[in-house]
Amino acid sequence: MSHNTGLISVEQRASGVVVLSLGNAEENVVTLTEKRLFAFRAALAQVKDMRPRGLIIIGPGPDMFSVGADISVIQSVTDPLFGEQLAQSGQEIFDELSALPFPTIAAISGPCVGGACELSLACSFRICSDRPSTIIGLPETKLGILPGFGGTQRLPKVVGVRKALDIILAGKTLRPKQALDCGLVVDVVSFDRLRERAEAVLLKASTIVDRPIPLIDRLIAKYSFGRSYIRKQATKQLQRQTKGFYPAPPTALDCVLYGLEHGLTNGLKYEAQQLGRLIVTPECKALTRIFFLTEASKSLGKAAAKAVREIHGVVIGAGTMGAGIASLFAQKKIRVVVRDTDAAALLRAKASIEKNIDRLTYLREDEQKALKACATTSLDDQVPPETNFVVEAVFENMDVKKKLFSDIKNKVSDDCVLATNTSSLSVTEMATSIGSSERFVGMHFFNPVEKMPLVEIIRGKETSERTLVWTAALTNRLGKFPIVVEDVPGFLVNRVLTPYLNAAALLFSKGYPIQDIDKAALRFGMPMGPFRLLDEVGLDVAAHVGEIMANGYGERMKGLDYAKQLVDAGRKGKKNGHGFYDFNKSGEAKVSTKINKILNLGEMQPVTDKDTETITDALILSLLNEAVRCLDEGVAGSAGSEAASQIDLATVMGIGFPPFRGGILYYGDSIGASEVKQRLQKLEERFGSTFSPWQGIVSRAQQDKKFLANK
Ligand code: NAD
Repeated sequence: MSHNTGLISVEQRASGVVVLSLGNAEENVVTLTEKRLFAFRAALAQVKDMRPRGLIIIGPGPDMFSVGADISVIQSVTDPLFGEQLAQSGQEIFDELSALPFPTIAAISGPCVGGACELSLACSFRICSDRPSTIIGLPETKLGILPGFGGTQRLPKVVGVRKALDIILAGKTLRPKQALDCGLVVDVVSFDRLRERAEAVLLKASTIVDRPIPLIDRLIAKYSFGRSYIRKQATKQLQRQTKGFYPAPPTALDCVLYGLEHGLTNGLKYEAQQLGRLIVTPECKALTRIFFLTEASKSLGKAAAKAVREIHGVVIGAGTMGAGIASLFAQKKIRVVVRDTDAAALLRAKASIEKNIDRLTYLREDEQKALKACATTSLDDQVPPETNFVVEAVFENMDVKKKLFSDIKNKVSDDCVLATNTSSLSVTEMATSIGSSERFVGMHFFNPVEKMPLVEIIRGKETSERTLVWTAALTNRLGKFPIVVEDVPGFLVNRVLTPYLNAAALLFSKGYPIQDIDKAALRFGMPMGPFRLLDEVGLDVAAHVGEIMANGYGERMKGLDYAKQLVDAGRKGKKNGHGFYDFNKSGEAKVSTKINKILNLGEMQPVTDKDTETITDALILSLLNEAVRCLDEGVAGSAGSEAASQIDLATVMGIGFPPFRGGILYYGDSIGASEVKQRLQKLEERFGSTFSPWQGIVSRAQQDKKFLANK
């Protein structure tokens, strides 16, 4: 017997077990829209009438269970009560699922996140496949909300309160092995065996003993002293991680603990109320925006997504960047040859690639071994004939790079993409080394490659659309977010960052102490202050970039050459333990007392709250000023994609601009062009032309226009 509404299908098996599919085979992505949830509810009623021996819930294919609720709804909710009702309606349906008088199991293959994970938590059991696409978890707090379909109430009952908080507060998703280890699923099997194994679990349901919740979790749940202990610990940790900028994690903590104290029914009610409160916050709107920007950046390479499954890569240069890039290839199971002229560099690269793979503890040993085998090293200058993507990461020297490309162009097929990871050289000029340069592109990874999520794809004068799309698709496949930028000095990220860093130096020269300037940036939500950032990057690198920017843009980008002066005094930043800060062996940093003397500066002045406002404005509005200029000059964005979105994504992913502020242009709109203009003019009066508002800001102020508005 079977039934199919288009959104949900139901089929009874000979064993008496019913299989309910959340989507049909043509669906690549299953979202729990209002319509699908409605169909799901109707299907549950129908299944109940069939009196089956059990129910298996599956997704439509091996790589999709469901991605959860429809996130686009979040942006439109402005009334907390409406948000609360949305949560309640989902909760009611999952309550019905959990109350069915026969055992139920979610047989998960592919993503099962957010609302879908909450659906699975309302089942008696969960089982999953070992497909690489299988992930299970609750990422809601990353969107500024909390799991509102019962997740904060049911997860602690399945995995214990400590693990539940670990997942919910950080918005984590788990791989199959991790899900098994914590008892979220009862077994991990191959996709081929998933249904059969799920059915066996159901038919033996009465004999299956749930993995016991650890005693300590049961004690925490039961006694008020246990709950206050865990609240204190978790609050402390959250404060350290989020600095109080994100309301969702502490609210989710509250919901979990409230449910432990007051029971499921009251807990669900509370959870729905809190979801309503969070969903209207500016932080939630900004974070949801960032989510959509990341999704949009994935669409840049969509047309080549299939083609890049057959990538055979070569990375030339096995230094800091080359080793990091090759490591990404291997981690994504893409075959890559790493080439260098220095055998020791190759050995170091191989060791670091293996170390990175060892860190993927959610993989089995044989899986790790298979990934490690993807990366090989080579000292000679040949490339395998099947090579179709080359990334160059040798010394930052135009002649060296040109020579290398003119040699390699003869050794690869005509459609092999040739990419350079240069951070400052002209991609267009470098492309002249290969004659016909449609397949030449910049692929600018950031350091450390493993951690930094952004890749700037630089379009040279002749770079073809195919090359851009392939590079974007590969970037996605490597787990990074691509943005497409023009071949201008500093590209986008270093270009908008320079006025910010120059503003910091200028403020310092006017008597504001380094620690207060850095503190102001931290208070705004930046991950570190500008001086600390310079030390992390390396003052030698910063001095070099500063020179390139001054050469490229003239007076307006010329900063005080403090980085260079410190390098001349032997201070290169964190790499040699001394920069603006002194670093001790354990990595702790203290502003050096020697800086003023080296830079010939007098006494610093004590800083008031008003000064902190001035400092914050000087830093952040400098960033905004340049970002608007880049927007108006068409520095970012490719055909069909919105430049403003790419700039905002770049500031968050490349600079660490606070995600809860939604990107620099989004932030600019929250202040308004007119206010931005006035504040910049005030800074200009006080500190000079560095702060002159860009004409695009002045004109938007006059016309009362937004930065994010389409022109
Ligand atoms: P690095 O000095 O750590 O490594 C460069 C490697 O290239 C060395 O191992 C060297 O032996 C090798 N090499 C030099 N010439 C070669 C040749 N002809 N053939 C093969 N190998 C050769 O440098 P890095 O920091 O990894 O930087 C590499 C590139 O990435 C540069 O263009 C740099 O501007 C860019 N980049 C660096 C950073 C960063 O922060 N380090 C960030 C973004 C981009």
